[in-house]
Amino acid sequence: TLLGGLLLSIFVCTLIYHSYLNRHNVEKEILRGLKNKEFFVEYQPVIESRSMKITGVEALLRWQHPIEGRIPPDLFIAYAETQGLIVQLTQHMMALVAADAHELQRAFSDKAKLSINISPHHMNKVSFHDDVLNFVEALPENAFQVVFEITERGMIDTEAAIREFNWLRRHKIEIAIDDFGTGHSALIYLEKFTLDYLKIDRGFVMSIDQKTLIAPVLDTVLRLTEELKLKTVAEGVETHQQADYLRNHGVTYLQGFLYSKPLGITVLMDFIRDFNEK
Ligand code: C2E
Ligand code: CA
Ligand code: CA
Ligand code: CA
Repeated sequence: TLLGGLLLSIFVCTLIYHSYLNRHNVEKEILRGLKNKEFFVEYQPVIESRSMKITGVEALLRWQHPIEGRIPPDLFIAYAETQGLIVQLTQHMMALVAADAHELQRAFSDKAKLSINISPHHMNKVSFHDDVLNFVEALPENAFQVVFEITERGMIDTEAAIREFNWLRRHKIEIAIDDFGTGHSALIYLEKFTLDYLKIDRGFVMSIDQKTLIAPVLDTVLRLTEELKLKTVAEGVETHQQADYLRNHGVTYLQGFLYSKPLGITVLMDFIRDFNEK
C-alpha cells in the first residue's frame, strides 16, 4: 500500500503538472506571474561587423515559473498575442528594461542600440502610443537608440502598419523587421515601409554551412537590402564560417551564440566591457 500510495501521488502530481498550463489556466497564470514578479529580462549582445564591437543589445523576456521552471517565450508570447495579454506583458517588459537602463548605459561609451520585440497586435491597441512614450521617457536621456523589432507575421493591415511605423519614426524609434524570411511577405513588400533594419532569420544563417536549397535565397535577400539601403542584422550566428560569410556579404550586425547567449544585466555588463576592450 505504501508503493500504491506513492504511485498514486506521483500520478496526481503528474496530472496537476500537466494541467497547470492548459489553455484555461494560461491567462490566469500569466497574470499571477506578473503579480508575483516571475518575469525578467535577458539581453543578447549585438555586434557591429565592421568594428567587431558590441554596439547594442536585444532585450528578451523570460518567465521563471515556480512549478514549470523556465517557460520559453515562444510558448507564452504566442498565447498572450491571441488574448489581450500581450499589452500587459510588453508594458511590464518595458518597465523592467527601463529599470536596467541606467546601469546598462554605463557599459557603452557611445549611444547604444536597445532593441525590444513588439508584437504587431500591440500596434493596433489604443494604449500603444502611450506605452511607447512612457517607455522612451523612462530611459536616460540620449543614452540609447531604441529599435523596435516587429515580425511580419500578423501584420495583416499594411495601411495601419505604415501609419504606425511613421509615427514611431517621428518619435526617433528605429524599426527592424524581425525573423525576415519566415513570414508571408514578398521581398517587394518591403518597399512600402520605411524601415531601418532587416533581421535575417536563423534559418537563413544556418543554410550557409549546410548548402541547403534556401542558401541562394540569402544572397538574393542581401542584394535586395543593399538596393533598398537597409541595414541588416543576422541572428543565430553560431559558427565562424557563418560570421565570415555574413561579414563578407556586407551584413551590418551579427548576433548569436558564437558571441554570446542572452545574459542577465549583471553578467552582461562585464561581458560587454571585456569584449569591447579587446
Ligand atoms: P527572436 O526575436 O527571433 O529572438 C531570438 C531568439 O533566438 C532568442 O530566443 C535567442 O535566445 C535565440 N538565439 C539567439 N542567438 C542564437 C543562436 O546562435 N542559436 C540559437 N539556436 N538561438 C539563438 P528566445 O529568447 O527563446 O526568444 C524566442 C522568441 O520569443 C523571440 O525570437 C521573440 O520572437 C519572442 N520574444 C522574446 N521576448 C519577447 C518580448 O519581450 N516581446 C515579444 N513580443 N516577443 C518576445
Ligand atoms: Ca527579435
Ligand atoms: Ca528574430
Ligand atoms: Ca528568429
